[in-house]
Amino acid sequence: MFINNKNLLSGTMDQLKECCGVFGIFGDSKAAEKTYLGLYALQHRGQESAGIAASNGKAITLYKDMGLVCTVFSNPDILSGLKGSSAIGHNRYSTTGLSGLINAQPILIQFKGGQIAAAHNGNLVNALQLRKLMEEDGSIFQTTSDSEIVLHLIARSKKSSIEDMVIDALNRIEGAYCFIFLTPSKLIAVRDPYGFRPLCLGKDGNSHIVASESCALDIIDAQYIRSIDPGEVLIIDRNGIQSKQLPQKRRRAFCIFEYIYFSRPDSMIFGEKVDKTRRKLGKKLAEESPCEADIVIAVPDSANTAALGYAQASGIRFEIGLIRNHYIGRTFIDPDQNERDLDVKIKFNPVTGVLRGKRIVVVEDSIVRGTTLKKLVRLLRTAGAAEIHVRVSSPPVKFPCFYGIDISSRGELIASSSDVESICKHIGADSLAYLSVEGMLDAVPERKLHCTACFTGNYPTAVPENFCKEQFSAI
Ligand code: 5GP
Ligand code: MG
Repeated sequence: MFINNKNLLSGTMDQLKECCGVFGIFGDSKAAEKTYLGLYALQHRGQESAGIAASNGKAITLYKDMGLVCTVFSNPDILSGLKGSSAIGHNRYSTTGLSGLINAQPILIQFKGGQIAAAHNGNLVNALQLRKLMEEDGSIFQTTSDSEIVLHLIARSKKSSIEDMVIDALNRIEGAYCFIFLTPSKLIAVRDPYGFRPLCLGKDGNSHIVASESCALDIIDAQYIRSIDPGEVLIIDRNGIQSKQLPQKRRRAFCIFEYIYFSRPDSMIFGEKVDKTRRKLGKKLAEESPCEADIVIAVPDSANTAALGYAQASGIRFEIGLIRNHYIGRTFIDPDQNERDLDVKIKFNPVTGVLRGKRIVVVEDSIVRGTTLKKLVRLLRTAGAAEIHVRVSSPPVKFPCFYGIDISSRGELIASSSDVESICKHIGADSLAYLSVEGMLDAVPERKLHCTACFTGNYPTAVPENFCKEQFSAI
């Protein structure tokens, strides 16, 4: 949908969570097409909405809508309407709360410096506070997303160049962000000083590319150059590429959940291969929690790589015991039917020939509410598994995330109020073991550089006051 104010849906401020995929390219005559392909590769980071803003050097055109990248850009006229040699794109993550076109990105505004579009991955922890102050001051917001606040701060900055305005604005922001900004003549990419979310730099001939994960470079045959540093600001224009640093100095806090679940195994993030780290998580898990069993299976797809690591380290054969349907989309499930685990059956089907009579290790990447595994264990028993031993390639998720992983809005975190024994009972497995925090940290390249807050409660930033009181009292 081409955007005007009338076709924006209304929303409320109760949901400020964004975990997304971002992509940007400068200096390529096929900028919009390549952004489309980049977003395709980053689809796993967000399925709710997709958008591309392109610049022809004078003006920016934006197109965004609800849905998957292939649906939003299904009409070729749309891409050919996004003219120019620079573009940015965004996939928004589907959260349970507020959704709608109103919060789709990129966000495009007009201010004293002209047009600027922004695409954001992350979650700003002081967003509500800043927004309140600005609203009291008379600001009008078009969206309910935290990302728009940065555009307001840019517009209010007294600095003269756009890069200094961006730096000035980001100086007032706390939290997790990878931002890609597009002006008619520049592309500016920034990673927050903690480095919560991944962002990498690539090159293809004379064009520069920035993307959440390197799989978005592979799809357009671009070359991976490096991970963008925490606090680094890259300014790309026709004169080339320039690197600046945000003034804030913060500890490093790379999101460890990106390795466990979120990123694609074929990607490089934080300068490391996801596949390599995820396999190590599985190996560590096998060393810490061995099991007498006939086969190892994964809960596909997110636990596949960790399950391979478990199988390799334990010497137990890896089998494909569950098949996942990838073509689900939005499915209406009658609550009565759901009592028969229809939601899980729509997604997974057991391979009975592999499972019947076998003692199986089921490797899962994480347990959040415990609902997936509870239903899966029932499904595996019906398929004839003799014993079901669940092994989880991350520690118990006990604390909400404020930095962009949708862990707080998922309602109850089962491990915040139950111990491993009761969770095992709840899901109906014969045994259950999680990877330890130490084991997890052994698997990542540099243990001190990571955020482990969802497992340990050690938050790298101040915790937003109004956010969590009741969630903490439940822990
Ligand atoms: P549970 O059913 O315990 O609430 O959720 C655990 C399952 O959700 C696991 O299969 C895991 O792969 C998946 N998962 C973990 N984190 C996320 C996330 O941020 N988004 C989505 N959609 N799934 C997740
Ligand atoms: Mg999963």
